[in-house]
Formats: sequence, C-alpha cells, structure tokens
Amino acid sequence: MSFSALGLSPAILDALSEQGYKKPSPIQSKTIPEVLSGRDLLAAAQTGSGKTAAFTLPILESLSHSAQAQSNQTLALILTPTRELAAQVKDNIQSYSKYLHVRCEVVFGGVKINPQMMRLRKGTDILVATPGRLLDLYQQNAIRFNKLKFLVLDEADRMLDMGFIHDIKKILNILPKKRQNLMFSATFSNKIKTLAKSIVHNPLEISVSPPNQATPKVNHWIVPIDKKQKTALLIHLIKTNNWPQVLVFSRTKHGANDLVRKLARAKINCTAIHGNKSQGARTKALASFKNNQLQVLVATDIAARGLDIDQLPQVVNYDLPNVAEDYVHRIGRTGRAGATGEAVSLVSADEFKQLADIECLLKKQLERVFIEGFDPVHNLPESNLHNYKKARKKPINKPKVEHRDGRNLKKAKRPR
Ligand code: AMP
Repeated sequence: MSFSALGLSPAILDALSEQGYKKPSPIQSKTIPEVLSGRDLLAAAQTGSGKTAAFTLPILESLSHSAQAQSNQTLALILTPTRELAAQVKDNIQSYSKYLHVRCEVVFGGVKINPQMMRLRKGTDILVATPGRLLDLYQQNAIRFNKLKFLVLDEADRMLDMGFIHDIKKILNILPKKRQNLMFSATFSNKIKTLAKSIVHNPLEISVSPPNQATPKVNHWIVPIDKKQKTALLIHLIKTNNWPQVLVFSRTKHGANDLVRKLARAKINCTAIHGNKSQGARTKALASFKNNQLQVLVATDIAARGLDIDQLPQVVNYDLPNVAEDYVHRIGRTGRAGATGEAVSLVSADEFKQLADIECLLKKQLERVFIEGFDPVHNLPESNLHNYKKARKKPINKPKVEHRDGRNLKKAKRPR
C-alpha cells in the first residue's frame, strides 16, 4: 500500500516523501481513507505507531479543499495532554502541510497568554491545544468554534490520568454538535470507554498493537539492585556502555533533580524535565537532547509522555512507575518507527509491588540481569503472576538470570 492509494493530494505526498516516509504505517493505511470519508474514529494506538500522521493527514487533506478559518475561528481542534506533545503535533503538521495553504497554531499553558491571543486573531485552520489554556482563551473570546469540523483527542488516557476530565467536558459543551471526532488512547479503561461514548458516534474502531502489550521492537529487562546503589549503577552503565543518548525516568520531580546533581558530579552531561521547570527550560532541554548536545535527560512520566525523539536507543527506569501502564508508555519511547531499542529498569526490593503489577500486565516475568559488583543484599522476590497462571493453566518458566559486567548489554542474547 502506498500513500497515494489513500486519497492524499500530491502536495501532501511530496511533503511526506521529503520526510522520508516511504509507505503508510498500519494505523495510517487503516484510518486515513475512513477519516477522509467522514467517519469518527476510536483508535487504540501508542506513540511510535505513526498515529499523529494518521489523524493529521486526512484533516489536512480535507481542510485544503475548504474555506479558511475567519478571525478567531478554528476548523480543527486537536487536544493533547502535555505542552511538549502539543508542540510536537504542531511541528508534524507544519512539515506535512509545507505545500498547502492550511494554517496551524499551538497554544498551551506555562507561557504568556497575550501572544497566543494575538496569533489567534486572524483565525487558524488547525489549533493544537492543551485543555486548560484553551479554556482560558475561550473565556477571553480569543477563539470561536462555530465553524469547527474536527475534534481530535490525543492520548485520552493520559488526559484523564492528569485530571483533565472536567476541562474536557467543558470543552465538549462549547463545541458544535455536528463535527467529526477522532479519539486516540494507548489504553482503554472503563473511564475511557465512558468518555468515548460521549464523543465518538458509530466510530471505526481499530487497535494497532494489542492494548497493554509492550512494543515488540524493544528489548527490556530488569537489574535487581539495592536502592542505595542505583545511582552508582546508573553511572557505571552509562560510562561502560558509552550510551550517547539516554532517557532516564524518575518517579518524582525531587528525585529527578537529585539524580541530575549526582550525575553531573560524575561529569555526565544531563538535565531534568518535569512539571516544576518553566516551559522555556523544558523546551530548551528537549532541543539539546534531540540535537545530541545533552547525553542524559531525566524525566518524570508526565513530562516525557509522548515525546518523539528519533531513534532513541536507550531508556532507563531509575524507579519503576506506580501505575503499571506507565511502564509500557515509558519503554515505548525507544524502539520507535522500526528501530530496535533497549529499556533497563533498576529495581530495588521495595519496588516489588510495582514490578509484580507490571509483570501481571505484561503477562510475563521480566528477564533479570545481575551486574558484576552490584549484587543486591536485599532480595527482590519473584512475582507469582496469579492472574497469569489462571489464564494459562501452565507452569511458568523461571525468568532467565544472567550475570554481566554491565558492558555490551546490547550484544547479549536475550530470550524473546
Ligand atoms: P507517532 O506515533 O505519531 O508519535 O510517530 C512516531 C514517529 O514515526 C515520528 O517520528 C514520525 O515522524 C514517524 N512516522 C510516522 N509515520 C511514518 C511513516 N509512514 N514512515 C516513516 N516514519 C513515520
């Protein structure tokens, strides 16, 4: 299947080939023709699947044939949970619409509202926004939805996790009833299903990778380690492997700052992004990480969610997340768009519960690798995967245990 078979115009096809896209990803070939035909969409898709182009391309195609938005109007509203994701979606739209006369703007909190109000004056065909700032702008009459044709909810599960449900309901109330709705979520909890019922009508439902399964292109395993040894082990792994670009996850903002201080003392070039950092600092950190000027980016889940960093080879979970689904999102930062990635989790005995939840979600025990010189004193128990055993009714193989010196982790053979 080629992009041209999906009903996209030459102006878009040229922009895609300049981006180096050769053929549509599975979610793109399934959804683009249906969205072009006017259908609502409910998609279970993770970042890395090509979902952004799956919703932006048909919207661009459709808007390129329609009248432009008038002052303070928008024709397509794309809601995202984080500022970084909003900026990223706008960048993608700009590159795909290079040869079209479709205007796109992005608005999010954490920066001055006035310049955003100015930019909206002439109207924008597509508006990418985070929910809170969008409502502020609406209340100040900076945006009108009377000609809205499309609503996209990107990463709906994360929006609910971040407490945006009330803002989303308020936004739904101010939008015209007749519109096309596209909703994306990595996971489908009951809350998401309820929200979906109030948004999409007779949607095309698709799932591009089985929900709650880690992406298969990522090799991921854990290193059992004492809590006090985690920083030393991380420094050892970064230095012995010469990892050029590592995204490290920390559960808390305080933990992220603390880790950055310790890594800096070990002469590792690093910085942190989290909710307490200004938007300017977050954008700058992300840009230097993407340009390879920064070796290590330490991030909390919210700050890192949805980040699209080309071919990120290495993810480290310094702490396991409290919510098992976040493990899948975190390791989804690597192994993107066909590349193979690695995700290593440093797990201490007190994180057994989080580990058990993750293994239960993934329905398998994660491979354990012990690093020479870092053997833990505190035992990390093995989870017994109650639910999994019931489902399989077969004995579980013990996870493979390996001893390594921490070098050449990539070359080691791993069970799949
Ligand atoms: P997304 O899932 O939207 O975050 O996209 C993940 C990455 O895949 C982004 O870097 C996109 O630029 C890239 N991408 C999306 N669609 C394609 C495609 N058809 N061919 C190659 N790369 C793509």
